[in-house]
Amino acid sequence: MPQVGCCIAGGGPAGMMLGLLLARQGVEVTVLEKHGDFLRDFRGDTVHPSTLRLLDELGMAAEFLELPHQEVRKLGVTTDDGTYVLADFGRLPGRFPFLAFVPQWDLLDFLADRARRYPNFHLKMNAEVLGVLREEGRVTGIRYRTPGDGEQELRALVTVAADGRDSRLRTEAGLRLREFGAPMDVLWFRLPQPPHSTGPSFGGAGRITRGRMLIRLDRGNYWQCAYLVPKGGFAALKAAGLDSFRADLARLLPVGDAPEALRSWDDVRVLSVRVDRLTRWHRPGLSFIGDAAHAMSPIGGVGINLAVQDAAAAARLLAGPLRDGVVPPRRLAQVRWRRLLPTVVTQGVQRLIQTRVLSRILAGDQAIGTPPVLRFIDRHPVLQGLPARVIGFGVLPEHASPSLSRGVGVRP
Ligand SMILES: Cc1cc2nc3c(=O)[nH]c(=O)nc-3n(C[C@H](O)[C@H](O)[C@H](O)COP(=O)(O)OP(=O)(O)OC[C@H]3O[C@@H](n4cnc5c(N)ncnc54)[C@H](O)[C@@H]3O)c2cc1C
Repeated sequence: MPQVGCCIAGGGPAGMMLGLLLARQGVEVTVLEKHGDFLRDFRGDTVHPSTLRLLDELGMAAEFLELPHQEVRKLGVTTDDGTYVLADFGRLPGRFPFLAFVPQWDLLDFLADRARRYPNFHLKMNAEVLGVLREEGRVTGIRYRTPGDGEQELRALVTVAADGRDSRLRTEAGLRLREFGAPMDVLWFRLPQPPHSTGPSFGGAGRITRGRMLIRLDRGNYWQCAYLVPKGGFAALKAAGLDSFRADLARLLPVGDAPEALRSWDDVRVLSVRVDRLTRWHRPGLSFIGDAAHAMSPIGGVGINLAVQDAAAAARLLAGPLRDGVVPPRRLAQVRWRRLLPTVVTQGVQRLIQTRVLSRILAGDQAIGTPPVLRFIDRHPVLQGLPARVIGFGVLPEHASPSLSRGVGVRP
């Protein structure tokens, strides 16, 4: 049976970044992705300064930013009273004072392309992980299926589950999940940008009014929109009909924007918002990272970036032991210890915003108006750097260790 140092279930941001970093470190690594390509429905595409800095430390940021992208330097909120700046990324230190909007498939293709330059990196597309192999209470690899070759097995010193928030390996490992709930779901759709759009000049903005919230992100020639509905509220919205939804949007959008461009419900993707976290992120021989370990609320657009940071921490902690051929369970536990604080703090802030602000807006609470904190931050621009830092870097951002950035293992 084939054997590698590390096999990774899932070729999302967490799995691809970990695969690349381990390959640079000379580890024999295989990533298995159940889809045939990375071109999927919209899944978020905000690449934050923490990720850009990491790419820079790996010597890849300049090439990455050659991909078509938009740079958002300020985020703001428009209420019935006016527009307020909430976060100014221009106040961040470093070379990347902005959020880069890059379609997720471009990010994943980029990582795959860089990783494939290492002979010890293997990417199997159309490979669905079915379960783990076990020997004497230890996970020793995975079972997977490909369309041509049917069911197969791959042995590995360490298996990493990066298979997202519906992780099959999580279920199989029988790990306990703490679920925190969320008061809302998010509808994602695109609207064309009229030639002389009166949208926010700074690229990203929320629009709040009683009972409604819409976020619009400037994607060059269209708006990427996120419309919040109370948890499970899509069915009622759909029952009320598309015309009623378009009329709702017209109330939130500036004059000139075109909600009628939304032709059918097929243009709308529903994200069922979840916030959860495993209480333990490993079993002997098996480690969980990214959404598989902790699903994040979309607030702040941090999911991709936390997944990438998990991968960087896991690569730093596991590459050496993987090269040595012995990975003690306490090494796997250290991945969780390193990433627990950023996860808990980020989810804590998200849950606070969900309960204190978003659920009140969605419930049509008249008292909420323009939240005083918004007015305060808008009046004191120096404070706009703080939300930018929380969103852009978060807590304990990872760096590429010198060996990771040099790529001490195999040369491409
Ligand atoms: C609609 C939507 C919008 C979002 N918007 C944003 C945003 O703007 N910014 C942001 O930062 N985050 C956003 N997110 C969240 C973000 O996409 C995730 O947090 C991030 O992708 C997590 O990365 P991951 O690698 O851990 O998991 P995923 O990206 O979920 O990747 C898991 C991968 O594993 C594969 N997989 C699953 N099961 C198997 C299996 N059995 N065998 C093999 N492969 C398998 C999947 O196909 C997938 O490619 C959004 C999510 C959604 C759904």
